[in-house]
Amino acid sequence: MKKDYYDMLGVPKSASKEDIKKAFRKLAHKYHPDKKDGDEAKFKEVNEAYQILSDDKKRAEYDTYGQTFGGAGGAQGFDGFGGFGGFDPSSAGVEFDLGDIFDQFFGGGGGGGRGGMRRGNDISIGIEIPFTEAVFGTTRTVLVTKTSACSSCEGTGAKKGANMKTCSTCNGKGKVHEARRSPFGTFSVSRTCDVCGGTGQIPEEVCATCKGAGVVRDREEIRIVVPEGIEDGAMIRMSGKGEAVPRGTTGDLYVNVRVMPDKTFSRQGLDLVMHLPIKLSDALLGTHRTVVTLDGDIDVTIPAGISFGETLRIRGKGVPSRGSRGDLLIKLTIEMPKKLSKKAKDLIESLKKEGM
Ligand SMILES: [Zn+2]
Ligand SMILES: [Zn+2]
Repeated sequence: MKKDYYDMLGVPKSASKEDIKKAFRKLAHKYHPDKKDGDEAKFKEVNEAYQILSDDKKRAEYDTYGQTFGGAGGAQGFDGFGGFGGFDPSSAGVEFDLGDIFDQFFGGGGGGGRGGMRRGNDISIGIEIPFTEAVFGTTRTVLVTKTSACSSCEGTGAKKGANMKTCSTCNGKGKVHEARRSPFGTFSVSRTCDVCGGTGQIPEEVCATCKGAGVVRDREEIRIVVPEGIEDGAMIRMSGKGEAVPRGTTGDLYVNVRVMPDKTFSRQGLDLVMHLPIKLSDALLGTHRTVVTLDGDIDVTIPAGISFGETLRIRGKGVPSRGSRGDLLIKLTIEMPKKLSKKAKDLIESLKKEGM
């Protein structure tokens, strides 16, 4: 289910930045977990919504695609509301930016989310699929040129069977210390060693394929599973299929799906809509028709006395989604005869006399 960030903050889509800020402040106070009636889950939701909607770029992405592509951090960044916990630079393989931390410490709000483990870029590609495949789901295989983990060494950068030796940069500790200035004096901050990626060990001989980088630039075949019922413009996120970085987290692949329009069918949510022209006499007397649907031919009974634009609803022949299906809506149009024969005119004259 897509998250509705506007809903979470209780503001309309047209809300100004100021409105969003006000709504956030109010709700953050209300749900703050330190309060007696706080609600941590709600507090996190509100935070997440604010992170997106208070950022012009993210808000635009969210409005357009229903999600954002900020990469690591993003929504999780804000942690400094009222209290500040869990700061332990030595515990994680994380490079902290003290500027950000002090902003949070002093209630500067927002920001954060930067730093963290190195992460490869996200990639976005587009595919176009026929209408019917979008309704029932499909797969596509695409070739993407990108930086991936080296398959020869599985990303380690070491030659197979090579002995490991102690990393000289960090003396095998996996971390290096750095002095940083701050308003409180000089801090020593530890961060993960770039050379060994925190393992403290480096290979004596490097992998010949990637020259020890652990990553290579190559073309990769990627199989995309398009779920049934996907809508035009939807985005599929494939976690870990983006660009790899040495000793870091691989980015994600975003697939923007375009659905080609169909000559016969269109969609209204989970319902399929089609038009069916019938003769004037059939509209008056009723009839049976064989209709070609996405599920094959079906027999449809058209009741007598139908009017122009009336819709027949065929249950369960619409778009599948999560184990159920929408309906097929057949919009009837009545073909009026352009020319009337002498005999037809006479017959209609007699209808007229009957008051029709
Ligand atoms: Zn390699
Ligand atoms: Zn090292």
